[in-house]
Amino acid sequence: MSTPIRITDMKCAVIGDYPVVRITTNVGIDGYGQVESWKPFLKPHVLFYKDYLIGADPTDVERVMMRIKRMGSYKPWGSAVSAIEIALWDIAGKAAGVPVYKLLGGKVRDKVRVYNGAIRFPLRDQSPEAYAEDVLKMAESPEGFSIIKQGISFHSRMMYDVPDYFYGEIQTVGRHPNRGLMTPTGFKHTLKCIEAMKLALGDRIGLALDCGPGLVKSDALRLAKATEDYHLMWLEDMITGDYTPYTLAHIYRDITTQTTTPIHTGEQMYLRQNFVELIETQAVNVIGPDPLDVGGLAELKWIAEYADLHGIMMAPHGTGDGLIGLAALVHVSATLPGNFIAFEYPKATQPWWYEIIDGLPNPIVKNSYIDVWDAPGLGVTFNVPAAKKYLNAEDAGFFD
Ligand SMILES: [Mg+2]
Repeated sequence: MSTPIRITDMKCAVIGDYPVVRITTNVGIDGYGQVESWKPFLKPHVLFYKDYLIGADPTDVERVMMRIKRMGSYKPWGSAVSAIEIALWDIAGKAAGVPVYKLLGGKVRDKVRVYNGAIRFPLRDQSPEAYAEDVLKMAESPEGFSIIKQGISFHSRMMYDVPDYFYGEIQTVGRHPNRGLMTPTGFKHTLKCIEAMKLALGDRIGLALDCGPGLVKSDALRLAKATEDYHLMWLEDMITGDYTPYTLAHIYRDITTQTTTPIHTGEQMYLRQNFVELIETQAVNVIGPDPLDVGGLAELKWIAEYADLHGIMMAPHGTGDGLIGLAALVHVSATLPGNFIAFEYPKATQPWWYEIIDGLPNPIVKNSYIDVWDAPGLGVTFNVPAAKKYLNAEDAGFFD
């Protein structure tokens, strides 16, 4: 009989901008998970869970998660739990000698579609012309994106740079702190920028718009109705969204039921239970949980299946998820039902990340798709000698 596998240690190092989780076992197998680049402050939060993990069988992923997932919440406080869950799947896959997608039910597609939310260029100003030029540059990216997402309105600099954009007092501190009723000038400016982008891209490339959080219900509905003829992919996070610690599904429902423009939310949400109202009341058309915030891969898979039963589409968030997060997104997206549209492709914040991670295809994206790979676990791992150069002094023992 083989030795029972047990967790012996869990470490966290901030590599570049990303907290990276490494779980080790008594049988020499380890697993990695990652937290978004915008959250280097989470390292102590990741390590908080260490004592709950030691001694557990990492291949009983759900059972281990029962120990820790009650102590997480909406973004950013679901990230640590999510990164740990992904590291457990990495170990479980390596222990079984199969890719993670096999353990999540098996793949239903050989390649997964990605959309652009990470390849960004500085906007020269907030004019419609600048927005049109910007999406055309994204369209020329070698990844050949078939869907491009652009930030507008409260998910852009419009409230700072377009005079008299909304009726509220401008906030400059915090993550997406502004909200309020748009002025007629602000609303019409937003619409002109959308028109310019849509004219530039035509129907060749789908256009999705990240809009908030921060719109009021009447503006959100007005915007959705005004853009119906543009056949947008979706309007994202108009009411609540990134870093909003609640959802307000009933407000989304009031908008969604009155327009043909697809309405999208969910990137900051944690655990399947928080999606029940959104899904069961048909409050949105598309949901975008991030595997690195929602509680991990099994959590996202469960939500996708339940959404599919209710006619709701899936477009997982992922722009800040780094290369281990990218691997996690590829595996889970390969297993999602036919409501999967595409996931948001993460680009590493430092170019050297592509030299310290082995196992990714080269090029990673071809014609807006990534071929699903078959190596055990997540199928990507650190080139340890190369990666060690980028460890901070306090993390010197991370790979030991
Ligand atoms: Mg978003």
